This record gives sequence, C-alpha cells and structure tokens, in this order.
Amino acid sequence: MPVMERPAGSEAVTTPILTTPGPILLLGAPGAGKGTQAKVLMMEWSIPQISTGDLLREMRKDPVKSASPLGRQIRQVMDAGQLVSNDLVQAMVLERLKLPDTRRGYVLDGFPRTLPQAVWLDQQLGRQNQALPVVAVNVQVSYTNLLRRLTGRRNCPTCGRIYNIYSNPPQNDTVCDVDGTALGQRADDSESIACERLRMHEALTAPVVAHYRDLGRFAEVDGELPVADVTRAVMDAIVRLRS
Ligand code: AMP
Repeated sequence: MPVMERPAGSEAVTTPILTTPGPILLLGAPGAGKGTQAKVLMMEWSIPQISTGDLLREMRKDPVKSASPLGRQIRQVMDAGQLVSNDLVQAMVLERLKLPDTRRGYVLDGFPRTLPQAVWLDQQLGRQNQALPVVAVNVQVSYTNLLRRLTGRRNCPTCGRIYNIYSNPPQNDTVCDVDGTALGQRADDSESIACERLRMHEALTAPVVAHYRDLGRFAEVDGELPVADVTRAVMDAIVRLRS
C-alpha cells in the first residue's frame, strides 16, 4: 500500500479500533468528501481504498489502454459525466478484490453507484465463505455546497495537490504553491457537467441508499462538519453497524 499523507484537517481524530472492518461503502454525491474520508479510514485501519473513478483514471493514463477503442470510449463517457457500463466497472472491481490486501476489509469509493451494481456486489460477497457483508455510510452535503466544491476544484498536474478557488485557494490564482505548475481542472468539474453528475448521482444512488437502508446496513453523517468530525462520525457509524 503506498505511503500517503493524511488529508488536511483529519489530524484530530481518535480512532476506534476495528480488527476486521470488512467491506465499507462510502456513499455521497461527487464533491461530498468521500475520497478524503476513504483515505483516513485506509490509513487508520490499514485497509485499501477501492475507487472505481481512480481505477478508470489510471486506465486512461496508460498510453496503450487509452489508445484502444475501449479506452477512447471510456474517456468520452467520463468526460461527459456519464456512467461507464456496469459490466466494465464490475470486471474491474472483481480483479481488484482478488488482491490479498482486501482480506481484512476495504473502503469502496464510487462503487456500487447503481442498484444493479449493489445487487451484484452482495451476490459476489455472498458466494465467499466468511466474507462480511457491505456496510454503507452516506456523507450528506447540500446541493449548493456540492456545486462550489466541484466547480472550484483545481489540481496540480505535477504534484497532485488539490485546491479549491473558494475554500482553499492557491496563493497565486492559477499556479501550484509547491512547484509553480499551472493548475488544471478535471473536465467533468465544469459547471454544466458537474450539474449533470449531481443530477445523475441523485437519481441513481437513491435506490442504492434504499437498498442498504432496508437491509439495516446503512448510516448517514453530516458532511458539512469539519473534516475530523466527519471522520469521527463515519468511524463511529461503521463500528456501530459492525457490532
Ligand atoms: P468519480 O471520481 O467517482 O466521480 O468517477 C469519475 C467518473 O468515472 C464517473 O463520472 C463515471 O464516468 C466513472 N465511474 C466511476 N465509478 C463508476 C461506477 N461505479 N459506475 C459507472 N461509472 C463509474
């Protein structure tokens, strides 16, 4: 597992211990901060984060894969803020879950995002002896704040640092504080596409929320609190759901 920095603001957490966290699904709209929370869980509980968005972006960076017809199709779909096919993401997740670092548990970020994906995952886990079922925690943030978080997000293509022009701007408008590289914006963070992603998220994820709520494996936390408080609430919810 790569060595990584703690996300800013997450330092103040005292961690409940969970020996076998099992599969944890972090739900939340794009921009709700699931990625940040996933990284803290990963560090505190020594389990991997499985982000289908990251896996797809990695695939796009590979020159051979991205030049293939499938690679080009994925790029188009992602840049338009649409969802990649269930078959493709499921195949990607299946491969990832075979790696031994997932044995004690893992944090799912961005998957399952639709009801068929959730049902598929439950079935996969149901087939494995001793696999714990998924527990889901939804990080809730208002629509207005989500839009500011997404459209304000800028990233440094050199060191990967992420800024937000509203809440965490670089010292100089357009370049990275660390290495002076011109900051970029994800194509899918433009306003029209961000709105489309939020609309689609709401429509598709509501059934996923209902699914885990009905199974009694669901909790919701306030994602507008300071990062460390959100982390604490997420961890407490998971410990509760596993007890
Ligand atoms: P994210 O970084 O999670 O916002 O994902 C970025 C993009 O990757 C999404 O807008 C989709 O195009 C694609 N993607 C990520 N996860 C999934 C998924 N579970 N199902 C379908 N498409 C996905």
